[in-house]
Amino acid sequence: MTLKPKILIVDDYINNIYTVEKLLADLDVEMIRAMSGPEAISFTAQHEFALILMDVQMPGMDGFETVEIIRKDPKNELLPIIYITAIYNENYYRTKGIKSGAVDFITKPIIADLFIGKVTIFVNLYRQHKILELEIKRRAEIEVELNKAKNIAEEAAQAKQQFLSTMSHEIRTPLNAIINTANLLMEEDPRPDQLDNIEILQFSADNLMRLINDILDFSKIDSGKIEFESVDFELRKLLNGIRQSFEYLAVKKGVELAMEVDDAVPNVIRGDSVRLSQILINLVGNAIKFTEQGKVSVGGGVCGDAPDATEFLFKVADTGIGIPDDKQQYIFESFTQASSSTTRKYGGTGLGLAITKKLIGLQGGELELKSKYGEGSTFSFRLKFSKSEKTHIEEEMIMRTAFRSLKGLRVLVVEDNLVNQKIVSKFLVKWEASVDIADNGKIAVDKIMGTTYDVVLMDLHMPEMNGYDATSLVRSMEGTYFKDLPIIALTASAFLEDRDKIYTFGMSGYIIKPFNPTELYWKISPFLK
Ligand code: ADP
Repeated sequence: MTLKPKILIVDDYINNIYTVEKLLADLDVEMIRAMSGPEAISFTAQHEFALILMDVQMPGMDGFETVEIIRKDPKNELLPIIYITAIYNENYYRTKGIKSGAVDFITKPIIADLFIGKVTIFVNLYRQHKILELEIKRRAEIEVELNKAKNIAEEAAQAKQQFLSTMSHEIRTPLNAIINTANLLMEEDPRPDQLDNIEILQFSADNLMRLINDILDFSKIDSGKIEFESVDFELRKLLNGIRQSFEYLAVKKGVELAMEVDDAVPNVIRGDSVRLSQILINLVGNAIKFTEQGKVSVGGGVCGDAPDATEFLFKVADTGIGIPDDKQQYIFESFTQASSSTTRKYGGTGLGLAITKKLIGLQGGELELKSKYGEGSTFSFRLKFSKSEKTHIEEEMIMRTAFRSLKGLRVLVVEDNLVNQKIVSKFLVKWEASVDIADNGKIAVDKIMGTTYDVVLMDLHMPEMNGYDATSLVRSMEGTYFKDLPIIALTASAFLEDRDKIYTFGMSGYIIKPFNPTELYWKISPFLK
């Protein structure tokens, strides 16, 4: 688009037009002549003008009439028009001129400098207007491009998510079998020389599972697909559980592991306990991993109180290797470690802190780090949790005594994977429960219709009929047996949408694979009549 502004000069007397053209010869503009009102009107329909210089007195249609018609076209509503006239009754014409929408009024004989100055102002205004118009157009185009790019990126992210989810499922199935087999071997009183090998097997398989879960988790968080649940939980128990699970590791390394919880911390709060555990497990795990001697202390205290929420400050401090100042901002990025020798020496992927930081951020908190190289690190964060009306949680009160026999408990295991079938059955048989197997949802439904079970363990992804459909089918049948039969999902994933789906389809709970034998025991034992 050319930016050369056009000026329409309207005068019935050609010499006047020449004079004006001469005066404006130095401006970089295109001048178009019109010798009458009708000619001027027809030009305004064909061109876009920066300015019209309009003679007032012309035979036939005078300047005022011409302008009135020109103004009727909406595109010319704001077109600047300057009247030029030799009439001395200046005030009368000025008023009339301004009423018809002129921006100025110049009398003849024209004073050159004043005239050129005025015209220049309008020409410049037009130029600026055009530049703005171009800029707006350019931005609109950019916006369209950005939107396109965003859509493509979103589609790509979705494809990546889908791929990761499918792959991780495929990898997790055999990995579950490895972990469960290792657990079983452990239960079978191995010889001391076998013990080491089984421990290595367990350790490596656990690590691999953590890595797969981290990658999947990270990509879920990254694509904004994460939701937080709100359940009542006991904070002290959660913290204690974390301490217990790391105690073995800490003792083995000779590192003291201390837990300090303020007295002001309420017993029961509401929020996402699974995600809080995940955050703390990451931080405590790192603290122990990067500490060779001294102490790791985990602290929880109240730091703010509102009518419906309590704010907590959590701290995980260690006396470990510390993080150099210049590395501190990078370790929160994905796949980043403080030093290139970290993986070799300590293992890990550099995803833990990226996930932890995001999980805290998405819940309105911020992960902070204070660290001195060689002396230790303290990670801290504040998080708000809703207040709960409960003072304790019933379910958690079950005493975790030694496994009692489950003799008489009739369990149906619905699972298409042979190895998984075997592993679950082995544990159930060990606890003396009676076990029946169904290879898919369809067979399971037939079996449930023909036999009475106390509990069903239902895999979700199976050929023929999946676990969700099988459960809905059972729930849709007449009779309390079908409505009340406990159906526990066996799921490889603990994500919230899957958790929600599990309940929507009428299941009574879930066990995450690879299942922890203790968890399996406590989830099914209440159904022993
Ligand atoms: P990973 O532990 O898998 O390497 P993280 O994202 O959890 O990944 O941590 C990133 C890096 O931050 C670690 O590799 C380590 O260099 C550093 N780091 C994290 N926590 C600590 C800690 N408590 N003490 C020293 N360094 C730490």
